[in-house]
Amino acid sequence: MISKIYTAIETKIPGPLDQALADVLDRGTDAPVKVFFRADDIGVSSRNFTRMMDLFLKYRMPLCLAVVPSWLTRQRWEVLESYVEQKNLFCWHMHGYAHKNHETQGKKQEFGPARSSENLFRDLSRGQARLESIMGDHLAPFFTPPWNRCCLEAMNHLKTLKFKAVSRSMGNLPPAPEGLGEISVHVDLHTRKDKDALSGWTALLKEMETGLATGCCGIMIHHMRMNDPAFLFLEHLLNLISRHRKIQAVTFQNLF
Ligand SMILES: [Zn+2]
Repeated sequence: MISKIYTAIETKIPGPLDQALADVLDRGTDAPVKVFFRADDIGVSSRNFTRMMDLFLKYRMPLCLAVVPSWLTRQRWEVLESYVEQKNLFCWHMHGYAHKNHETQGKKQEFGPARSSENLFRDLSRGQARLESIMGDHLAPFFTPPWNRCCLEAMNHLKTLKFKAVSRSMGNLPPAPEGLGEISVHVDLHTRKDKDALSGWTALLKEMETGLATGCCGIMIHHMRMNDPAFLFLEHLLNLISRHRKIQAVTFQNLF
């Protein structure tokens, strides 16, 4: 499903939105700030995947790619690998194991409290091993849990497996244990559930303001949920950020 915010865009970004976005970026950057983009649910090439990657290349903007181990095969990697030579731009890392919910109540989690410690460890370690065997040293030691949530036990296992940091939504609990970094995302471009475009854009700009105020704003992308207006907005945002004097676009590797 496509987020309702994109019903406000047809063939160009409306002037008031363009202005509001420029204002938020300028207001939030009295001091230099960092921004990163994180694209989830990676593993299978598609028209939208290629379109997203080509946009990041066009603006020479870095992107963190969260790859689902059980979706990736050698054959699929051979297709994605054409982007690997852009080594400084792309940070390939792990996104769950099978992207399956295991919680029977509450919010969805693949690595939540409903599972035994043994099962959490098994899926994290076999996911890591599978990606390493296919991607070799192109795999970076970072973990994005599906739905941006995971439990403390899972994060302790990540430490054991030598991951450097976990990337979740800002403020998600429990906090990462000592020795495991936390890389928060603040802005959701494509999986939001606003009731209409206006309230959605107001909320999104607020997310961006909050993220910029932390000094490192994380922006989430779900390419499978993008339509033409969503691509138009992403290109607009990449263009603004790539030219902004006080914003430095980074990957997880630049942060740790
Ligand atoms: Zn996901």
